[in-house]
Amino acid sequence: MSESANDTAQPVTDWEGYSFDTRQVHAGEYPDRNTGLRVPPIAMSAGYVFDDFDDQVDRFAGRSIDPIYSRQGNPTNAVAEERLASLEGGTGSVAVSSGQAAISSALFALAQHGDHIVSTASIYGGTRILFGRSFKRFGIEFDYVWDADDDAEWERAIRPTTKAIFTETIPNPRNDVTDLRRIAEIAARYNLPVVVDNTVGTPALIRPFEHGADIVVHSTTKFLTGHGAAVGGAVVDGGRFDWAAAERAGRAYPLITAAPRPGLGSMLDRFGTGAYARAVREAVVNDIGPSLSPFNGFLLHQGMETLSLRMERHVDSSLSIAAWLEQQPEVESVDYAGLPSNALHGLALRDYDGRTGSVFGVAVRGGIDGARAFVNGLRVFSRMTGIGDTRSMVIHPLSSTHATFPQEINDRLGITPGLLRLSIGLEAVDDLKRDLRAGLDRVAALATPAVSLAG
Ligand SMILES: *Cc1c(COP(=O)(O)O)cnc(C)c1O
Repeated sequence: MSESANDTAQPVTDWEGYSFDTRQVHAGEYPDRNTGLRVPPIAMSAGYVFDDFDDQVDRFAGRSIDPIYSRQGNPTNAVAEERLASLEGGTGSVAVSSGQAAISSALFALAQHGDHIVSTASIYGGTRILFGRSFKRFGIEFDYVWDADDDAEWERAIRPTTKAIFTETIPNPRNDVTDLRRIAEIAARYNLPVVVDNTVGTPALIRPFEHGADIVVHSTTKFLTGHGAAVGGAVVDGGRFDWAAAERAGRAYPLITAAPRPGLGSMLDRFGTGAYARAVREAVVNDIGPSLSPFNGFLLHQGMETLSLRMERHVDSSLSIAAWLEQQPEVESVDYAGLPSNALHGLALRDYDGRTGSVFGVAVRGGIDGARAFVNGLRVFSRMTGIGDTRSMVIHPLSSTHATFPQEINDRLGITPGLLRLSIGLEAVDDLKRDLRAGLDRVAALATPAVSLAG
C-alpha cells in the first residue's frame, strides 16, 4: 500500500484547520472499526467493562480517565461534545440533560455556599428564576448589573466572594445583544471567569471565546439539536482562564486547583487547559447526575451537522420579518438588533455582522387585549414556550416566562403588556408574514370602533 493511501485510510480525528461547515459535519465522529457504520451509533449502555482487576482499580483511583459509568460520559454524547467544542473553539465540553442543568453545572463548578455571582440583568426568565430560588437556597447569591457600560455599577456589584460573571449573547425576548468585550474587560480587572449562555447566538453566529469569554453554556434543546424534539444542554471550556492567577489574587476555585484526594494532583495539574471541563464532568455532573441520554446525544450531534445552514435561513427570515413588522400600523415597536433603527445596531454590526439570531420581540397596539387578539389570530406560529425550533413560535412573556417577577423588574426589562416573543422557524417567509398579518388584522379590528348597524 502506498504511503498516501495508507494515510487516508486512517480515521481523521483532528479537524482543526477545517472550516466551520466541515467541522459541524465531521468533528467528533469516530469510525466504527467492527461494523463500518458511517453514522456514529447510539451507544445505549449504562456502564463499561473493565479490562481486568487493575483496570478497575486505576479507573476508581482517577489514574485512568476511561469512563466507569454513563453518568460520567458516553461515546454518543462524546461525538456531540467534541463537535460543539470544535464549533465554539473550546478545549472540551460536557453534555448534560438540559440548558438549566448546563447553567447549574457550569456555576456549581465555580461557586459554593457563601459565594456570589454577578449577572447582567437581561437574561432568560428561567435562569433568573433558577438564580433567585435554587441557587439562593444553596447559599449562592446573585447581583444584577443593568448597564454593562457603567463601571460604577460593576464596582458596586463585585465582592471578594464573587466567583463568576454570567451573561448571554442574545437575550430574549428583546434581542438586546451584550457587549462581551466590555464585560471581559471588567472580568479581567477582577480575575473573574465570564460564563456566557450562547443558546440564542449559537457558534454559527458568534463564538464568545473570540470576544473574551471563558466558559460557554447552551440549551441544546434549541438551535443546536434544532428540531424541537429533545431537551439537552452543554458546558464548553474555553481553556483560557488562568485559575492559578485567580487563586493567587484571592479567588479560590477548589474543584479546579485543589487536590481532590491525597496522592492525586488537582484538575489543573492533570488536565491543564481542559481542567475546568474535567471538573464539571467529574466533580459536578457525576455527583449530581444530570447526564444526557445517548438518544438525545445522537439527536444533538446529528442536529449540529446542519447548524450553519439552518441559522442562515432563520436569520434571513428574521431580518425580513422584523423590517416588515416595523412598517405595520398595528405594531408599536420591534426589538431586533439586526434592524438599523435599533439602538444596539452598531454593536450588532461589530460582533454579529448585523445577524442577531431569530428570537425577538414585537409590541402590538392595544396592550394585553392587542396581544391576545394577535396570538389568537395566528395559525402557522405555534403558541408555546420554546425557541430555536424548525417551527415558528409565539409567546406572551408578561403572562408566561416573566409572570413571577415583580412589576418593577418587568418594567425595567421592557416586558410590556403588548409585547410578544417570536421565534422565527424555517417555514417560507411569505407564509409567516401572511400569518402575522392575519394576527395584526385582529388587532386592527379591536382598535376600530364597531360600526353601528342602527345608525
Ligand atoms: C431554553 C433556554 C435555557 C434553558 O434550557 P432548557 O434546555 O429548557 O433547560 C437557558 N437559556 C436560554 C437562553 C434558553 O433559551
